Amino acid sequence: MSSKGLLFVVSAPSGTGKTTVAEQLVKIVPTLELSRSYTSRAPRANERDGVDYHFISREAFEARVAHDDFLEHADVFGNLYGTGRAETEARLASGRDLMLVIDVQGARQVRQKRPGTIGIFVLPPSFQVLEHRLRGRSQDAESAIQRRLATARSEVSAVAGYDYVVINDELDRAVAELRGIVLAERARRERRMDLVAPIVKTFQ
Ligand code: 5GP
Repeated sequence: MSSKGLLFVVSAPSGTGKTTVAEQLVKIVPTLELSRSYTSRAPRANERDGVDYHFISREAFEARVAHDDFLEHADVFGNLYGTGRAETEARLASGRDLMLVIDVQGARQVRQKRPGTIGIFVLPPSFQVLEHRLRGRSQDAESAIQRRLATARSEVSAVAGYDYVVINDELDRAVAELRGIVLAERARRERRMDLVAPIVKTFQ
């Protein structure tokens, strides 16, 4: 599986603000794109098919799993989510860097399949802050909030498998830190050999 672009996976407990951080990031970093996932979840009032997600039926999702059409897929809060394999490979092959904002189960699968994947975990400042945000932002029932908090406890324990951690205490600061990670990864020497070799040659 060869590719030219870099693959980033970003995970965080629900309510941490990872989607907002990632959406702000791609606005300010050229040639970095967000992946659009497939999901069997119903769209929320403000969501559009083909923009926020590809919304498909559970049957269609399962058919895609059977055809091995996903790079990764997972059941999150009872809904199915997955990253399309063909579109991911095509975008990376064309040299664009891609960011997947996916849960910890999916991130684990991607890291196994593509060892060069760069993992970034976004943490809220504390469990109490996460709880406060979840209660503040949503019309979710108490049972749904409790389920998200219980999932958050187990998700946070997966942080050890990631390369970088960003603490989302303040949006602009978190976006700046994420941008720093992307730029540093791009600047790694082994990824710059096509630029380095001709410059070194001018010294000979
Ligand atoms: P939501 O339904 O709130 O949009 O997302 C719920 C969870 O599913 C979030 O943790 C989100 O990161 C995760 N998610 C979204 N897309 C994907 C995907 O393609 N694969 C996996 N494994 N998780 C996803």
